[in-house]
Amino acid sequence: MEIKIERTKNPKAKPDQKNLGFGHIFTDHMFVMNYTEGKGWHDARVVPFENLSLSPAAMVFHYGQEMFEGLKAYKGEDGRARLFRPEMNAKRTNASNERLCIPKIPEEDFVEAVRTVVSVDKDWIPTEKGTSLYIRPFIIATDAFLGVAPSKTYMFIIILSPSGAYYESGLAPVGIWIEDEYVRAVRGGMGFAKTGGNYAASLIAQVKAHDDGYSQVLWLDGVERKYIEEVGAMNIFFKIDGKIVTPMLNGSILPGITRNSVITLCKEWGYEVEERKVSVDELLEAQKSGKLEECFGTGTAAVISPVGKLRYKDDVMVISGGEIGPVSARIYDEITGIQGGTKEDKLGWITFVD
Ligand SMILES: *Cc1c(COP(=O)(O)O)cnc(C)c1O
Repeated sequence: MEIKIERTKNPKAKPDQKNLGFGHIFTDHMFVMNYTEGKGWHDARVVPFENLSLSPAAMVFHYGQEMFEGLKAYKGEDGRARLFRPEMNAKRTNASNERLCIPKIPEEDFVEAVRTVVSVDKDWIPTEKGTSLYIRPFIIATDAFLGVAPSKTYMFIIILSPSGAYYESGLAPVGIWIEDEYVRAVRGGMGFAKTGGNYAASLIAQVKAHDDGYSQVLWLDGVERKYIEEVGAMNIFFKIDGKIVTPMLNGSILPGITRNSVITLCKEWGYEVEERKVSVDELLEAQKSGKLEECFGTGTAAVISPVGKLRYKDDVMVISGGEIGPVSARIYDEITGIQGGTKEDKLGWITFVD
């Protein structure tokens, strides 16, 4: 794939690395590529970051035909920029695309697009501990047409946002609300795809949980509202009686890359790992008998998010005494170590940007 590069004439001042927050600062450039039926993906380019000009009739605004991805670039102590398993994001892009009738992108082109735009803006990768450059690839349907059908034109765009340390003062356990009224996805729906509609469906429960002082929602299955699925933007793991347990991928759960990495590491370390159905009742039982030893969320944003408290209806389960469990801490150290280049990349998970 040939990528044209047009550099900005007005580079922005770099932000203060101590106050990056998440998702509101953008770099100087973005990657753009168009799709036209009959022509395929074309005109791959890196251009200055700018607003888009789209018809108000563009299909993405009306029927939500879009998908997105999320990954990060890390700058190690050696000054080299690293991506963590970007080929997995490329694969998942095409799984989302297939579900949403969006044309696929060759995996190597996806990775090359990410590497190229990150390389152009590599001075934007922050270097303070815990910071990174968040990478947001997404595809939108752009036909100006109000009929309900797959679009014939699309844009694939990658924007970059320097982001602060997720945990300002070390790994902090969160409180999680098990949602028993609303559901996020059902089998046969698009829960396994990374698409805006799933998030639109989740906002109402998130607002409810926040109002009650919980930071995130844990979803139950959409049919029986009995089995654990995942957290808002994280997969969920439990340590029950010495075993690592996580809900199996059933079509309504997002197949997280962090989830896959955690399973791989835990197996390497000799833990028994079970991917299976996990009911709320099982958790309540395990909690009562003292066998619910740890609970943590996994996702690109935080890597590991220890859960100190789980609320279900009138029950509040306090886990690991509200502290970080040893397995959560070990996984966090290992993955962030590989990403930062201080731990050996034995499994070939790192792609250097240049
Ligand atoms: C992105 C996402 C995750 C986490 O996936 P990672 O690849 O580990 O970042 C989990 N659940 C949902 C709903 C997501 O959108």
